[in-house]
Amino acid sequence: KKKIAIMTSGGDSPGMNGVVRACVRMAIHMGCDAYCIYEGYEGLVRGGDLIRKTEWYDVRGWLSEGGTLIGTARCMAFFERAGRLAAAKNMILHGIDALIICGGDGSLTGADRFRAEWPSLLDELVAKGEFTSQQLAPFRHLNIVGLVGSIDNDLSGTDATIGCYSALARICYAIDLIEATASSHSRAFVVEVMGRHCGWLALMAGVATGADFIFIPEKPREDNWREEMCSIVEHHRKIGKRKTIVIIAEGALDREGNKITPTMVKDLLADKDGLGLDTRITTLGHVQRGGTAVAYDRMLATLQGVEAVKAVLEATPDTKTCVIAINENKIVRKPLMEAVQDTKKVAAAIERQDFDEAMSLRDTEFAD
Ligand code: ADP
Repeated sequence: KKKIAIMTSGGDSPGMNGVVRACVRMAIHMGCDAYCIYEGYEGLVRGGDLIRKTEWYDVRGWLSEGGTLIGTARCMAFFERAGRLAAAKNMILHGIDALIICGGDGSLTGADRFRAEWPSLLDELVAKGEFTSQQLAPFRHLNIVGLVGSIDNDLSGTDATIGCYSALARICYAIDLIEATASSHSRAFVVEVMGRHCGWLALMAGVATGADFIFIPEKPREDNWREEMCSIVEHHRKIGKRKTIVIIAEGALDREGNKITPTMVKDLLADKDGLGLDTRITTLGHVQRGGTAVAYDRMLATLQGVEAVKAVLEATPDTKTCVIAINENKIVRKPLMEAVQDTKKVAAAIERQDFDEAMSLRDTEFAD
């Protein structure tokens, strides 16, 4: 019987449990044994009871659970070859040669590296006398498939990452709550949202809540952004708006590459010689990650989990490691490393302040 393992890694995101449930059940449906690796790569490196056979009923009710019930962790050991060697040994001890990993670009980079190194890791295990070549013959090819779990929607090549719509819904809900009090007191709120190098959450939350002004990393404002923001806010106030909402992505920069901070924006809105608004800062923080997944993320987790099992079973030694994406509402397989490299290109373009390049590499159209 083929043994397929599933793991969640990197930052948690709503929908990861749906992924585990779908993979476990599809693997069993296809006549395979399903295993869960607990605590991300840490579980692979340490082995033992962090690698557990999982049955159909073990994942009952997981669609509506937030976070990841099999745990996730940052694992320094997996950056080292010795850690990956231990991981290979643990997989072989459990008879596993197929791995589905749900995580962000870091986790997927680790996965690709592991697959590329696999033959040499096996050779090293034989050289060290851990196994004989004969014992390793059934393990010659490691099949790995990636799934993108991230609240940031920051991976190139897919329209949505598992968890991003849940985080977006939570941000919108939080802003609705803030708006009630903002409107009552005629206040301004500066809201900082997550997203690392990606402005998707900030931009979409701005569109969905009708924010007055938005700052994102990929498209810094012109140098006169202070005047522009104040004049837009002033105009909105003049036409009767009793609340002001400015959304800042945590990675937002100005054209010189300096961070736009909530305090900077608050001071401007509150400036007695200018707008003089009663202004508060709300950093949403980890509430954005928490809670149950919205329907879209459950659907994505389930359809992509099923596709991941199919992909892992169909993979041959010649197929490139793939990641499961969604493009124009269709679940598709894409070369994993190309998606990861394109993602890294965006971050690099932002770093060298080549914002046109950053914008052109994003899948979502970022309108003016
Ligand atoms: P995310 O997957 O959310 O981007 P990280 O970047 O923290 O999160 O990556 C999660 C884990 O993946 C790391 O702690 C490490 O164990 C593994 N990993 C990331 N990059 C690499 C790499 N280049 N080589 C080996 N392992 C890696």
